[in-house]
Amino acid sequence: MITQPSPNFNDRPKGIKIKYLILHYTGMATGEAALERLCDDRAKVSAHYLVEEDGRVYSLVPESKRAWHAGVASWEGDRDINGLSIGIELVNPGHDAPEYKGNYRPFPEAQMMALAELAKDILSRHKIVPWHILGHSDVAPNRKCDPGELFEWKWLASEGVGLWPKVIKDMSSGEALSIQEKLTKYGYVIESNGDIDQQIRNVICAFQRHFRPTDISGTFDQECHAILESLLGARDY
Ligand SMILES: [Zn+2]
Repeated sequence: MITQPSPNFNDRPKGIKIKYLILHYTGMATGEAALERLCDDRAKVSAHYLVEEDGRVYSLVPESKRAWHAGVASWEGDRDINGLSIGIELVNPGHDAPEYKGNYRPFPEAQMMALAELAKDILSRHKIVPWHILGHSDVAPNRKCDPGELFEWKWLASEGVGLWPKVIKDMSSGEALSIQEKLTKYGYVIESNGDIDQQIRNVICAFQRHFRPTDISGTFDQECHAILESLLGARDY
């Protein structure tokens, strides 16, 4: 672990318990460029940790402090995701930055191994349930798509970090809820104002990036139904 302090943090709300782990990609050409930005007081962004593609781990903000990684984000009833979470940035050029377009690439094994080790260490210190280990796109589906469909959530869950549906249940056992209601029940937030249909499509894409990465269609098909049913069933209320 390499300590590289970032000035970009503030106090967490008084008395809160950390309950989320949020994963990101940096969306910049190199790890060095990302580190520089995350430590630049003018950028007003940070994370608790950054994991390089070769597995080096940087500690930027103490876990006791509120790092600035999630922005406007929500899950279940929670709006201050930064206040309630630990944020990890994974070095990867990502999909979005125009100058790096096309450079989104798989997360190397060394990076994933280092992430798993770091996450397990975090989970040993904070009570974070598996379904509260989320991507930035899960908590901000209208703005973000990181860490994206190349991120290996399934492997990470096999390491004990995060929730992955084990048994795809028969659809017929499902409750009579709409797609929107089921996604909301799982934790995704669809605001009551704005373009509801667009928000639902964005949430479906976020769901697919996390749980059905082979096809990010934005259409909630039979397989997505079965996966969501299994996830709802696997969650321990
Ligand atoms: Zn992010």
